[in-house]
Amino acid sequence: MRKSIWVIAHHQETKIKPVTFELLNIAASLARKIDAEVNALVLGPSVAHLSPQLIGLCDHVYLFEDPLLTEYHYETYQQIFLRMIDKYHPDILLVSSILRGTDCFPRLAAHFKAHYVSGCMDLSYLPDQGLIQYHQAVYEGRSILEGAFKLDRMAVIMTLPHVFTTPAEKGQKETIVSPLQIPLSPMEFITRRVSSIKTVSFSLGEALVVVAGGRGMQGAGGFKLLAELAGKLHGAVGATKAAVEAGWCEHRFQIGQTGSLISPEVYIACGISGSIHHLAGIQGAQTVIAINQDPDAPIFKRSDYGITGNVFEIIPALIQSIDNFSGV
Ligand SMILES: Cc1cc2nc3c(=O)[nH]c(=O)nc-3n(C[C@H](O)[C@H](O)[C@H](O)COP(=O)(O)OP(=O)(O)OC[C@H]3O[C@@H](n4cnc5c(N)ncnc54)[C@H](O)[C@@H]3O)c2cc1C
Repeated sequence: MRKSIWVIAHHQETKIKPVTFELLNIAASLARKIDAEVNALVLGPSVAHLSPQLIGLCDHVYLFEDPLLTEYHYETYQQIFLRMIDKYHPDILLVSSILRGTDCFPRLAAHFKAHYVSGCMDLSYLPDQGLIQYHQAVYEGRSILEGAFKLDRMAVIMTLPHVFTTPAEKGQKETIVSPLQIPLSPMEFITRRVSSIKTVSFSLGEALVVVAGGRGMQGAGGFKLLAELAGKLHGAVGATKAAVEAGWCEHRFQIGQTGSLISPEVYIACGISGSIHHLAGIQGAQTVIAINQDPDAPIFKRSDYGITGNVFEIIPALIQSIDNFSGV
């Protein structure tokens, strides 16, 4: 039987999220080498409107719609994935670590005695050995591990966001769209969410641009400046532990060993020295830009571009240039 790689689609409202296209791209590249089909699974209370965005990029789009999926609930998702795997026998499940439901996947891997890779940063096929090779971020991103496995049983692979490229152009595949045929009954679930507390949406893990500040921002006012720059760049704000401990922003903004691991396309470090604990959180960042008044600050060693100077002069100048560029 032909092998199959299943991508779990990440979406919000009317859009399939870019990270899904990254996964479909790496899935397609691997599929060509191991002769597999690529399937996307889209789950939610109402998802049929999303399927056109996936046409041409995979062989099959499976839709699973159920009002039970209005809120994320571990038990419900776990049952869906268990039944999907039992019925369709995927060889590889590819999931982004920013997908809600990530708590399901290590358990699924254990249940099916599957290969399990978390923090995956790349995937390739070694034809001579017949192995799938991967690199994964371990120890809070402080090390990168190289590993390989034979596809003798299912593999569950959780990837870091923004580490794979998206397809350059619209795919040419003929895509079949159909419902995922598995039963799900509300009566099977012992717990039911009766209400949820609304929080302001926060997308540090998903943001393509992150503007982060450290002790050099000198206070909550400095973070307002960062928020303004981040807003102009459609990015998110992040912080060092020092800034969080000073009370300038909440812990959910913290990047690093004891904060979030992020992998944006552009990371702008403002008034950040670049301690190993902080750098552990930006291993996956593609382009790092640092602004620091100390030319010997360690952050410059991890930077692609460095600006030596005072953040309170440079950030307003950057904001002004962006405004000039966009004609504001
Ligand atoms: C177990 C453990 C876990 C940790 N986990 C984390 C973590 O998850 N994340 C994290 O960030 N840290 C973490 N830390 C703390 C970490 O070691 C550093 O202390 C922290 O990252 C330093 O933050 P900072 O760069 O903001 O401050 P500093 O090291 O004080 O650096 C401030 C920088 O701002 C520059 N500066 C000052 N004023 C200006 C200005 N006007 N214009 C331009 N530049 C200016 C200075 O030159 C300096 O380089 C951890 C530490 C431990 C022990």
